Amino acid sequence: MTKTGGCLCGKVRYEIEGEPMFTALCHCTNCQKQGGAAFSVNLLVNEAQLTVEGDLKTFEDKGDSGNNVYRKFCGNCGSPNVSELEAFPGMVAVKGGTLNDASRLNPTVQTYCDSKQDWVSLPESITAFAKSPPAG
Ligand SMILES: [Zn+2]
Repeated sequence: MTKTGGCLCGKVRYEIEGEPMFTALCHCTNCQKQGGAAFSVNLLVNEAQLTVEGDLKTFEDKGDSGNNVYRKFCGNCGSPNVSELEAFPGMVAVKGGTLNDASRLNPTVQTYCDSKQDWVSLPESITAFAKSPPAG
């Protein structure tokens, strides 16, 4: 199963081969700022599963653990497409809102619920962590 997606203006396009390891929602304030939304939707994939066409700009961000988060976005329209997490080497977080079809995602984890907006209500079946999931 190949998933396709890209930015709003179309200059950046990507393909994901196969299924993500898991899909996580992130309520951290940096994701809220970057995405202009209440939370981000992240498909965690092995970097070998992802092919990107077009140029991404990188904003070097830091997670609360001190690890770098490389937030990659289209320099033309600003869509956040992927993030690389120093805490998860070899993995890439693809931003689910940029998929051409996000209707079949199955988020199983939500992180940084400490900063979740009170007016957001999600199913209890999505395992909630106050911050990031325990390492390993
Ligand atoms: Zn664009």
